[in-house]
Amino acid sequence: MSGSSQHRFIHSIQGQKFALELLSRAIDSGRLASAYLFRGPAGVGKFAAALGFIARIKCSSPETCDGSCHNCRLIAKLDHPDIDIILPLPKTVSDNPDQTAAVMLQVSAEPLSELSFAKPASIGIDEIRELSERLALTPTSPGGRWAVIRDADSMTPQAANAFLKTLEEPPEDTYIILTSSRPDYLLPTIRSRTQPVRFTRLSRPLIEEVLISRGFDPKKAHELALAADGSISSALAAAEETSTRIRELGEELWVTLFSRNDAKALNLTEKLGNNRSLTEAVINSSTSFLRDHLLALMGLGELIRNLESRERIDTAADRFKDTRAIIAAIQFLQERSTTLRFNPQYDLFWMDLILRGRQIIAGKRVSGG
Ligand SMILES: [Zn+2]
Repeated sequence: MSGSSQHRFIHSIQGQKFALELLSRAIDSGRLASAYLFRGPAGVGKFAAALGFIARIKCSSPETCDGSCHNCRLIAKLDHPDIDIILPLPKTVSDNPDQTAAVMLQVSAEPLSELSFAKPASIGIDEIRELSERLALTPTSPGGRWAVIRDADSMTPQAANAFLKTLEEPPEDTYIILTSSRPDYLLPTIRSRTQPVRFTRLSRPLIEEVLISRGFDPKKAHELALAADGSISSALAAAEETSTRIRELGEELWVTLFSRNDAKALNLTEKLGNNRSLTEAVINSSTSFLRDHLLALMGLGELIRNLESRERIDTAADRFKDTRAIIAAIQFLQERSTTLRFNPQYDLFWMDLILRGRQIIAGKRVSGG
C-alpha cells in the first residue's frame, strides 16, 4: 500500500480487503476506470467507501489530510460541485427540493444507514437526464467530475436505458460509481460496462468498533453487533428501533405516573423491560420526560428534548403545575434506578415504582425504601 494510508479513505473502507486493494492500486497507478460497480451485501459501507475513494482523489493534500480540507469537507457534506449523488427517493421527495435536501443531510450525517421511506423509492429518468447534463460540465477542481448512484438497481427501466447511453459515451474526465446490493437487477449491459468492486460482510469486532465510535457503550455495541449479520446498517437500524421503543415506554411511564388508572398501570408493567439495561434506559427516558415537563412549566420550552412529544408535554404542563412534586419524582426515579440490582422481580419492581411515584406526584411523603 502507498502513502495514502494517512487518508481517511482507508477508514471509510475498513474491513473490505478486496475493495481496498483494488481501489488503492487504481489510485497508485493513476489509472481509474470510468465506471465502477461497488457490489455486496446491504449496509457494509459501499456508499461510504465511494465517498472515501472520491475524497482520496479530490483531496487537496491526500498524504496528510484528516478530512478537514476544503474538498474533503464538501464531499462529506455531499455538497461538492464536482460530485453528483443520486439515490432512490419517493417521487414526492424528489419533486420537492427542501425534502431532498433534508434527506441528503440525513445521508451525510450517517452514510452507513439505510434509507427507508414509507412510499416506494426509485431513481427516475429525470434524475438521470439531469445527471448526464451535469457530467458534461468542466470540473471546478482537479480529479474530474464524479457521480455516485446509490442503490443503482432502483433505477426505473427508462432511467436505466438513459443511463446506459451515458455509460457508453462518458464525457472526458468523468467517473461514475454505482453501488448495489442487488446487482442482478441491473441491466447486463450496465454491469458489463462497469468494473466490479466486491464488498463483503463485516466482521463482528469491526461492527462493534464502529458502533463504539458512534457513542454506543461497549456492551450494547457487542449485543447489536452479534445480531447484525455483518451489516452496520442493520446494527444501526436495530439500535434505532430499540431507542424508539425505549422513548415510547418512557413516555408511557411518565403519563401513567400522573394518572389514577390502575388497569393502565398494570398493563404498562407487563410491557416494561425485564432486563437491567432496558429498565435503566426506560427510567432514564421517563426522567427526561419529567424534566421536559418541568422545563415547559418554567417557560423554557426551547430546551425540551423529547421534541416528538412536545404537544403532550405542553398539555401536561398546563394541567399539572406542582414543580416541587415533579422534582421529587425525578429524584425518586433516579434513586430507584440505582437500587435496581436488589429487585430481580421486575413486575413487582415496576408496580412499586409506579405506585410510589404517583404518591410523590400527589405530594405525599413516601416512607421506606
Ligand atoms: Zn482532504
